[in-house]
Amino acid sequence: MDNESLLSKLNQFTRRTHTEEEVFLFDVKLCDNEIDRDGERFSLSALEQLKELFVGRTGIFDHDPKGHNQTARIFDTELVQLPERKTSAGEDYTYLKGHAYMVRTEANRDLISEIDGGIKKEVSISCAATSRTCSVCGKDRMGQSCTHQNGLSYHGKLCHTVLSDITDAYEWSFVAVPAQREAGVTKQFGQDTDRCRHLEKKWKEANALLSRVEELVRQDIVRLRFLVEGTTQQDAVSLAADRMSLEELLSFQETLRTKQKQQCTGQLPRIKEAAENQAFSTRS
Ligand SMILES: [Zn+2]
Repeated sequence: MDNESLLSKLNQFTRRTHTEEEVFLFDVKLCDNEIDRDGERFSLSALEQLKELFVGRTGIFDHDPKGHNQTARIFDTELVQLPERKTSAGEDYTYLKGHAYMVRTEANRDLISEIDGGIKKEVSISCAATSRTCSVCGKDRMGQSCTHQNGLSYHGKLCHTVLSDITDAYEWSFVAVPAQREAGVTKQFGQDTDRCRHLEKKWKEANALLSRVEELVRQDIVRLRFLVEGTTQQDAVSLAADRMSLEELLSFQETLRTKQKQQCTGQLPRIKEAAENQAFSTRS
């Protein structure tokens, strides 16, 4: 991409149009699909999601999220694939490149020369992944556990955790010390936050399911009361039922069912009798 198209892209994020002289453009390698030191790797779909999520994200320096340090921003991203290089998991090595800019000021002049000179090149990212699966059996490591351990080989394949379903990308930042196998990239996760979100999601799903069950039980109670008592009117019992917990509703439903069964068996001889009478009457 030439500088002009880069500029027009970055100017979508600025309050006024900047010229080439006013801004400093540089590329950062945000993350890739290689297994990292934590035994985790991003799936290719996760990289695709991160590609979208990182556009417009602000970069911070040395993990200081406030104030004057927030001067760089990613205005475009691309996935770079190197088919000649395979990852430990056997995929084509793929990394997410971010095109970033800084508005040149007196205050960031030193920083710009550090980046320009390649001194500040280690970038770390923070994001939330809601899916962490075992590479061997595919089980979700957030909810269930499996017997496979990261770092051990199973049938010649290194076990690791595959990260997918990226819900958010929070920040990217330059860090002083490289902490990853692939120089220039580290990543961070709010693991507890991820876990909480995941549990909250599961809890909401379970609650929604319970509400549906409760609704079905209520409908069944209306039906059973009609069969047993011939009632369809709102009365004291239906008002009480409105306030019943699911547990109480289930036991009320059970009582009504038992009553209905008793009525049915009570009716059987009468039906038989009626049928016999009718048979008798037609014969005569
Ligand atoms: Zn497993």
